[in-house]
Amino acid sequence: TSPLPSDLAIARAAHLEPIAEVARAAGIPEQRLEPYGRHVAKIDLAAVRDLADRPSAKYVVITAITPTPLGEGKTTTAVGLAQGLSVLGHRATLALRQPSMGPTFGIKGGAAGAGYSQVLPMEQLNLHLTGDFHAVTAAHNLLAAMVDNHLHHGNELELDPRSVAWRRVLDVNDRALRNIVEGLGARIDGVPRQSGFDITAASEVMVILGLSTSLRDLRERLGRIVVGFTYAGRPVTADDVKAAGAMAVILKDALKPNLLQTTENTPVLVHTGPFGNIATGNSSVVADQLAIHTGDYLLTEAGFGSDMGAERFFNVKCRVSGLRPDAAVLVATVRSLKAHSGNYRVVAGKPLPPEMLHESPRAVRAGADNLRRHIEIVRSFGVSPVVAINAFPSDFDSEHAVIREVAEAEGAHVAVSTHVVDGGKGARDLAEAVVAACGEQHEFRYTYELDDTLREKIEAVARTVYGADGVDFSPTAAKDLERFEVLGYGGFPVVIAKTHLSISSDPTLRGAPKGWRLPVREVRAAAGAGYVYAISGEMRTMPGLPRNPAAASIDLDDDGEVVGLF
Ligand code: ADP
Ligand code: MG
Repeated sequence: TSPLPSDLAIARAAHLEPIAEVARAAGIPEQRLEPYGRHVAKIDLAAVRDLADRPSAKYVVITAITPTPLGEGKTTTAVGLAQGLSVLGHRATLALRQPSMGPTFGIKGGAAGAGYSQVLPMEQLNLHLTGDFHAVTAAHNLLAAMVDNHLHHGNELELDPRSVAWRRVLDVNDRALRNIVEGLGARIDGVPRQSGFDITAASEVMVILGLSTSLRDLRERLGRIVVGFTYAGRPVTADDVKAAGAMAVILKDALKPNLLQTTENTPVLVHTGPFGNIATGNSSVVADQLAIHTGDYLLTEAGFGSDMGAERFFNVKCRVSGLRPDAAVLVATVRSLKAHSGNYRVVAGKPLPPEMLHESPRAVRAGADNLRRHIEIVRSFGVSPVVAINAFPSDFDSEHAVIREVAEAEGAHVAVSTHVVDGGKGARDLAEAVVAACGEQHEFRYTYELDDTLREKIEAVARTVYGADGVDFSPTAAKDLERFEVLGYGGFPVVIAKTHLSISSDPTLRGAPKGWRLPVREVRAAAGAGYVYAISGEMRTMPGLPRNPAAASIDLDDDGEVVGLF
């Protein structure tokens, strides 16, 4: 077999349709398109109404077993599956998060898929796209400036400066800005206080954009953002400092989803990029509400494993959108199951240990408990699981056979997919498995009801989804949960910020950990986004750059083309 050309070579050789053509095939009227060049367009939200009477697509979430730090190929498989459904003659649309530029220049490189299953144009996707992240940064920082300005001009609201939790954001991995002192200098230079920067993807504004169902809803959610508390302990909101109207103005175009295409011209909506640990880790509600009427299948990717992004997809995003999923694709790889055997050391930013590439069905079997647990998690939502074996060139048939056997023993659909090498043709079996799963009788259910207490909701996720024996709340967390019920946040869903590298809260525990309890150190309210989040373990909201950042090998060649972005 000849070696696969590079992602860049494949992307450059691919035939792109004019974006209006991609929209037309999805039934999106041309007058709703706002083109950004020939191959990217924003879609006016009026299109949601235009399409409302068309039939609803089957709705499929792409998730994964517990990933290694390398990623198991959810995006790549989601692209391949969309192409594979098209090969079978179905109309499929894909919805993805927009990648953050922080990790693109840091450890991760590009995030547009791989080989013959990529989203194009990949340079725009990985860089500014249509500027939505910049709009989030600007809106977020406007609020921060107006809070500090309020303190400077006499602090009429009696906002306690020590309680201000609204930091600043930037779409750059910059550890030196994690903790800062601002307002230094003379009297006219503001009120000194300690603060810091988070990455834009971690901004509450990003997740608000992702969860808003209309411009009006966006405006109202922005107004409800809590920036801090008065000396008397009352919340101070973005509406109180009169920032929310201007923030909505900055964001009005960013609420429109962006249309791109796959290497085989399948429509892809790329919209918003909330962080996967403290936020929802899902693409936007409006993109899905629009795309649900664009064909037979809507595929949407949820960040990290099914315990993380998919749990929030089901319990938070689907509740907001009102959409009901029909199936969940669990991406599994030989390398991740081997990693769950506990016999190999996989480190972010380092190549895999070479012995992991040797043929070893035994090592795959030794890690299979993780896959079994993720199948159970998907089933706990009443949704049909489809295991997608994302084939790597280094895999052996004997190793795929073990994954297939384990999935079948659990009664899950399963298929090997070779989309990276073969494009949509390589995902035919997977597409057939997804069609079969969507055709089955199923009844979607949440893990908890909104009128359960916040404590009960956190406990329900810990037990039902993570398989924990219970939750240990720190005294501060317990007190704050009571306070949130009093402040009127009791009806919110919950997000649990824990490691994505284990189903448990301990990143070193592989497989399907048993006999452990979830520690909750701290709870916070994202009142604008509309959820309460519980923090278990250390949570980084501003990543750093590695010793050899991807940025160091990215450049322009003599023709002005980007090189090294992979
Ligand atoms: P995720 O969405 O789960 O984070 P991605 O689809 O972005 O994962 O893939 C992570 C990395 O793995 C990418 O660099 C991609 O090129 C590589 N990759 C994924 N699937 C394959 C495959 N089947 N063969 C080779 N490389 C792959
Ligand atoms: Mg991805």
